[in-house]
Amino acid sequence: MKQLVVATKNKKKLSEIKDILKGIDLKLLSLDAYKNVPRVIENGKTFQENAIKKAVKLARFTGQFCLGEDSGLCVDVLGGAPGIYSARFSGRDKNDVKNNLKLLRLLNGMPVSKRKAHYVCAVALADKDGLIGIVEGSCFGRIAFEPEGSTGFGYDPLFYIPKYKKTFAQLGEKIKHTMSHRYHALKKARRIIQKYIEK
Ligand code: IMP
Repeated sequence: MKQLVVATKNKKKLSEIKDILKGIDLKLLSLDAYKNVPRVIENGKTFQENAIKKAVKLARFTGQFCLGEDSGLCVDVLGGAPGIYSARFSGRDKNDVKNNLKLLRLLNGMPVSKRKAHYVCAVALADKDGLIGIVEGSCFGRIAFEPEGSTGFGYDPLFYIPKYKKTFAQLGEKIKHTMSHRYHALKKARRIIQKYIEK
């Protein structure tokens, strides 16, 4: 069976990617299968640039078919921030709780109409010879007034889906994985992967 290396060290992301790609005729490997993995500097200006960097560099390193992912949260009233800086929004000693608190602080006093936000996920596929494809998916919602729920990761306790009147962290993985930015990007990526393995 052919292999696909998922180029992330984020365990939550990895488990989401595995869950959304399940059923595909590929063995999914994580970077944990490799030693001395080179660091990828995420200095691209877009999610796509960063996803491509991860996929291409790690495909070259592993010699395998690789999937690179870059994602984040864009808040309209903040001009799209934190965007590509989502993971490090609260600075050096960043963590999910601090990132969420900073976001709430910046939106303090803002009404529902000013809390529109969307997640973006870019997925790049590459092999040792270079880039094979790049796709992107989004998911729209708004920022809640306080964190609610305990599933998922990152900004999920604040990412509110009006249709369900719940945050992603309250909705749980089963529903998140049928509507998230990662789901939409991987649905497109699945077609590229399928073509590649049939080659
Ligand atoms: P990356 O690892 O550089 O792509 O950083 C992604 C960051 O964006 C994460 O650390 C989270 O802060 C945020 N993020 C991306 N996708 C999600 C998601 O599905 N839920 C919650 N936060 C997310």
